[in-house]
Amino acid sequence: ERAKVQSALLHNEREPKIALEKEKELNELKTRFVSMASHEFRTPLSTILSSASLINRYTDAEQQERREKHISKIKNSVAHLTNLLNDFLSISKIEEGKLRLHQEPIEINSFCKDIIEEISLNVKDGQQVHCTLLPEPAVLRFDKTMIRTILYNLLSNASKYSAESTVIELKVGVEDEHLELTVLDEGIGIPESEQKHLFDRFFRATNAGSIQGTGLGLHIVKRYVDLIGGNITFTSRQFKGSAFNVKLPLQHGEG
Ligand code: ADP
Repeated sequence: ERAKVQSALLHNEREPKIALEKEKELNELKTRFVSMASHEFRTPLSTILSSASLINRYTDAEQQERREKHISKIKNSVAHLTNLLNDFLSISKIEEGKLRLHQEPIEINSFCKDIIEEISLNVKDGQQVHCTLLPEPAVLRFDKTMIRTILYNLLSNASKYSAESTVIELKVGVEDEHLELTVLDEGIGIPESEQKHLFDRFFRATNAGSIQGTGLGLHIVKRYVDLIGGNITFTSRQFKGSAFNVKLPLQHGEG
């Protein structure tokens, strides 16, 4: 009986503490994000402003090419801002423990093709995205937003951390009750001594230099993969490239 009371006391004392710590951590995260965002938002916003001003000046009919260049700059900047906001929303939801899986049937091949198409619009000059899909279309149950985020992050990193005119590859496979997604690039790679931090929140490798980023993407990817009950691994060599491999268990039935 005494043990019970003691444990009840302990429990009651501990829970508010845990809640408080969580609250504190969440606040720190938000503060950190706000300072990062105010920095990260500045570049795309000033690009949008200057491109819009320039478009305004290109009034001659033959200046269509210049207009298009700036329109595409605006689009890229808006996409970048949207990504930043999405990352933050995902992180907050993860940290608040509010995320639930919404499984729905997805035809994997067309789903991947759509993402590749979207990514291809934003890759660097001359970069090619190669894709090996499943030999036949297959409908599998997954959380669409989560797989989308996982694939999108891996593919956009592959492009971002690689030079122009390189090849990015996506391989899709189903094996042993797993959906397997592999993303390969010929990019700058991750220095070996830093690899252990790769999935940490806000982590950015030293060789990322001035390439834009927040260090949130891979952390979110890892958290999603964990939620789905899957597994993510990578191999990387500096100056050579990286390969990310995600295995997600196939879901059966409803839910
Ligand atoms: P971000 O790209 O916004 O910085 P991520 O969380 O997606 O954040 O990635 C964390 C870090 O891991 C990056 O800053 C970069 O240093 C490194 N990284 C991720 N993907 C790659 C890749 N394909 N090639 C080289 N470095 C990478």
